[in-house]
Amino acid sequence: MKLNIKDTFNKELPADPNKNNTPRKVFEACYSYVTPRIPSNPKIIHVADEVAEMLELERDTTSEEFLNVFTGKTVYPKTAPYAMCYGGHQFGHWAGQLGDGRAINLAEIRVNGKPWALQLKGAGETPYSRTADGLAVLRSSIREHLCSEAMHYLGVPTTRSLSLALTGDEVLRDMMYDGNQDYEKGAVVCRVAPSFIRFGNFQLLTARKDIKNLQNLTDYTIRHFHKDIQTEGKEKYIAFFQKVVNASLEMVLHWQRVGFVHGVMNTDNMSILGLTIDYGPYGWLEGYDPNWTPNTTDSQHHRYAFGNQPGIVLWNLVQLANALFPLIEDAKPLEAILESYQTNFDKKYVEMMFKKIGLAEIKTGDEQLIEDLEQNLQLTETDMTIFFRELPRIQKKNTPQEAFQKIHKSFYKPIGLAGATTDAWTTWFTKYIDRLQEESDRDETRKFKMYEVNPKFVLRNYMAQLAIDAADKGNYEVLNELYEVLKRPYNEQPEFEKWYAKRPEWARNKVGCSMLSCSS
Ligand code: AMP
Ligand code: MG
Repeated sequence: MKLNIKDTFNKELPADPNKNNTPRKVFEACYSYVTPRIPSNPKIIHVADEVAEMLELERDTTSEEFLNVFTGKTVYPKTAPYAMCYGGHQFGHWAGQLGDGRAINLAEIRVNGKPWALQLKGAGETPYSRTADGLAVLRSSIREHLCSEAMHYLGVPTTRSLSLALTGDEVLRDMMYDGNQDYEKGAVVCRVAPSFIRFGNFQLLTARKDIKNLQNLTDYTIRHFHKDIQTEGKEKYIAFFQKVVNASLEMVLHWQRVGFVHGVMNTDNMSILGLTIDYGPYGWLEGYDPNWTPNTTDSQHHRYAFGNQPGIVLWNLVQLANALFPLIEDAKPLEAILESYQTNFDKKYVEMMFKKIGLAEIKTGDEQLIEDLEQNLQLTETDMTIFFRELPRIQKKNTPQEAFQKIHKSFYKPIGLAGATTDAWTTWFTKYIDRLQEESDRDETRKFKMYEVNPKFVLRNYMAQLAIDAADKGNYEVLNELYEVLKRPYNEQPEFEKWYAKRPEWARNKVGCSMLSCSS
């Protein structure tokens, strides 16, 4: 296996001089060197073949060296693995230093002119592990591996996942934080992204008044990831902030489009490149409910609920603006950028929703149509994915009643719908079909355009849980099958029709299928 190593982060930014792997506060450094823990009996259970191809490793995935390097058993020659130092706001409160407690960056490679950082998650303690073990369990690693790839194929900016491996070690976890500890199988995934830098990397340096390294890190990020920024001085940092705002906006817009709920949008889980990062207690909307959160830790305040995500991105961007302030020392341009986030988001959100309902040309009154739709979707439990995938089947010649029948299968309790619910839908479909008459596209054309933005297959929590339950018993068939289905989420794939279904009733309150804790 030949990796084209081109390390930059650990070459251009200051290292923690202490090389011991003991928990500590790390000052005036961006990372600490650390060696991955040696797994007792590593076994690769899944490789994302297209990620392997992207990295030109497709001929190596069955080799001993691939297994060893991507499970942490051996360190690739001439590399110096490290854990990053960062802080963050957790659930709205400044938490100080956090850092890569169980992620270890192996190296950066360059393939076809593109930089890729390779990072193991679950490969043991680092100086940032605090009191935790640095490990990850099979269940959460399957969720991270599958969802990273599913998001990529949905067209959502995300970190990727090359491989999923068992370590052969057992990991003690209290899954529901209720005092019932149990041993689970340990696992490691190898994540792949141009960079894993987070908002929190900048925040921690500013919090500690280490402005020299704040500037080092910001210059590094611009130099490597925003080569088109040509200005200097404070203009350069303002342009950089604008880029982060734009990328973060695009990311959350996609989340709202596909019904993804991240679950833990702390500033340490916000990628500076606008990638979805750190798949923990995430979930997918089944019943359309803006107030829904999959994360048990957030069940009281719903801070990270579906409908709050765009606002939370803004809140996080405000924290990043504060972190970058010492480089700019002028609040006005930062405030202007933050203010434009809201207007831009609202505009793009409406455009996105128009696409979802198949309107090519925007006319007056259309915004009301979207608002009414969002209200209707909450009248009775209505599956978001199925609703938007069935909507394209409505034709200009349909009556409101026929249209209503076509989306009927998205209701969780289709029998005995309240009269008010039926009335509201009839009213909406009357307006919608009227409005369709003004569209120049033919029904078939509109349908295919709508299919391109409304996925048929998403990684519902119960699906991931079925893959987990089987994998726990050594059967990887469901895992393999889901990976294949989720590679083409917008295609009909009739052979996989069984995965185009509402959440089954058994999954409604089952652990892992409806609510998840952060324990992973
Ligand atoms: P999260 O919100 O899950 O992204 O994690 C928040 C912080 O806790 C990060 O600094 C993680 O690296 C750290 N962390 C989470 N789980 C573990 C673990 N099992 N061992 C060490 N650190 C962890
Ligand atoms: Mg994290």
